[in-house]
Amino acid sequence: MTIAQLARKTVRELTPYQSARRLGGKGDIWLNANESPFANEYTLNLAGLNRYSECQPPELINAYADYAGVEPQQVLTSRGADEGIELIIKAFCEPKCDSILYCPPTYGMYAISAETNDVNAKVVPLTPEWQLDLNAIANNLESVKVVFACSPNNPTGNLLIRKDIITLLEMTTDKALVVIDEAYIDFSLQDSVKDLLATYPHLVILRTLSKAFALAGLRCGFTLANSDIIEILLKVIAPYPVPVPVTEIALQALSIAGRARTKFQVLDLCANRAYLQAGLGMLAGVTVFDGYANYLLVKFTDADKLFNTLWDNGIILRRSPVENCIRISVGNRDECEKTLAFIRGQL
Ligand code: PMP
Repeated sequence: MTIAQLARKTVRELTPYQSARRLGGKGDIWLNANESPFANEYTLNLAGLNRYSECQPPELINAYADYAGVEPQQVLTSRGADEGIELIIKAFCEPKCDSILYCPPTYGMYAISAETNDVNAKVVPLTPEWQLDLNAIANNLESVKVVFACSPNNPTGNLLIRKDIITLLEMTTDKALVVIDEAYIDFSLQDSVKDLLATYPHLVILRTLSKAFALAGLRCGFTLANSDIIEILLKVIAPYPVPVPVTEIALQALSIAGRARTKFQVLDLCANRAYLQAGLGMLAGVTVFDGYANYLLVKFTDADKLFNTLWDNGIILRRSPVENCIRISVGNRDECEKTLAFIRGQL
């Protein structure tokens, strides 16, 4: 038997994640991964690395609970929100038997984590307005243990209607978890559904320091949920998921000063988003969809051609699965200006 044959059948058929860098993208402007352009500075005390970290460092849990306005027992920290997705599927879905349900166009990791865990995925597309198709979801809930929905949604950028999330929670009570992925909610914090945690014990909210907090490289995310759910997730998480330096940096980001800086940077990015939206919106044949996160989904007449030309010229964007659409992360003003000017020159 070859090594490849030793691997699980599902795994043999998978392709590793291909980042734009791995695909050979080269250039000065990277607006493909919804990263923050701000490279903030942190101090690091490297003493004590001979010891394992705590599984759930209490000071980090307390700091995020305070930031999010929830109780510490309602918080789990993990290696990015991506690990949160993985843990939820691992803990709640029986392989080859249960299903998740997700609503494309949306974030790719729900389907990928289901696949790598041998869990079925039911696909119920969003409506043409990119909202939840509640009737179709209701008709597809058999065997579903977890429903994933994303708000603001990646890649479309819109917020889900709160009333629809409540209807979804009502129809899944005692049947399935509802996971609302709020990775980008810090760009519009007033729209979080975290207040619904008190009413719906099957609601789970995903958060991250990767976006508004400008710490994509840190790999630090949070799952907010009823303490019963957190306790179940703790059964499947790795013993030491959060490295000591991660906690140290995350605590600085979540300090009063760190939060103030984040707020300032979020406002700056929102201004750049408005600049990009206005500039692109003036171009003939271009449609810019309203976005509530740090990216915009933009429709062109020939997205493939434009995307490739930009790529060849060192401006790396993200080709979206939405027809003729490109997702543009909001960078600093210089990056936005150069990208807009280049696109203008191509049309
Ligand atoms: N959810 C959404 C909607 C995302 O776009 C991303 C990152 N691209 C994540 C979750 C994962 O974030 P993290 O870096 O915390 O793993």
